[in-house]
Amino acid sequence: MQCRADRSVAGGPTAISAIFQTQGLGATKRPRFDRNPPLCDHSPPRKGQGLRGSHYASLKPLYLNGSSRMLVTILPAFTDNYIFALNLCNGVAVVDPGDASVVARHLQEVGGQLRAILITHHHPDHIGGMARLSTQWPAARRIGPVDSRITGLTEWVHDGEEVVLDDDCVLRVMATPGHTRSHIVYLGKDQVFCGDVLFSLGCGRNFEGDAAQMLSSLEKLAALPDSTRVYCAHEYTLANARFASKLDPNNADLRQRVADIHDLRQRGLPSIPTNIGSERRCNPFLRCDDPSIWAAANRYAEEILPNRTAVFATLRAWKSAL
Ligand code: FE
Ligand code: ZN
Repeated sequence: MQCRADRSVAGGPTAISAIFQTQGLGATKRPRFDRNPPLCDHSPPRKGQGLRGSHYASLKPLYLNGSSRMLVTILPAFTDNYIFALNLCNGVAVVDPGDASVVARHLQEVGGQLRAILITHHHPDHIGGMARLSTQWPAARRIGPVDSRITGLTEWVHDGEEVVLDDDCVLRVMATPGHTRSHIVYLGKDQVFCGDVLFSLGCGRNFEGDAAQMLSSLEKLAALPDSTRVYCAHEYTLANARFASKLDPNNADLRQRVADIHDLRQRGLPSIPTNIGSERRCNPFLRCDDPSIWAAANRYAEEILPNRTAVFATLRAWKSAL
């Protein structure tokens, strides 16, 4: 299936010391969503699970302060997408602006200039806002992978190259094919903006390329330091948690993680960012070598699977069939 799929609070961005802040939204300030949002992994969120509705109504953009000096604001879009706004010394960069109106509202609220757009892959829920934003901010850099399906870029980046946004924000490009053939992620000092490759407790669909390629991309991410914050582009975590729990019911780390996720979501907060250490302990797609995960895949496939690539392919097919 084709993927149909800081603001400065009072005192300025440097005054933000809390991990995040939320604030109620009045009806007139409620963000606008498009109908028919894209889906980049699987089934649509169940009622109350997505960002629409009461969870979202109490959600303002979230201000996250990493251990590096880069501040990341999470901007919900559509039903379950996240756009990430990076606070630069002279403005804002955004990752995967599927919806221009979400970014425009953020820029208006912070009074900031859009300096750069970073694209991970060509799907409309990730690039859909770029044309409008580049009309409004023609000087903004538009950076992404080489792929003719992404129009309007001003800079094309490749595996291993660096994107220097300012002195405190230098991102390294890593090629992560498998969701799409040209998918890339952007690595900061202690964070990764990973589009639709790795999700919290899950992974993206394997649209282009084979399972070995997708698994290789996931394993490159899994090899990052445990503390690396993972900014994935969708809020799929509760559905992923149900699948992971079914495969791995005796995983104590997973049980704790699921409890934490329920708590976050009940408070209207994103489950993002997650981190690599937690994903290595809890995400079944990063644990294909684990005997219990392997056994569950064998049961689903009704055969003894020969290697972890076959386990991964089976899990991905199983998840997609739900
Ligand atoms: Fe997506
Ligand atoms: Zn996608």
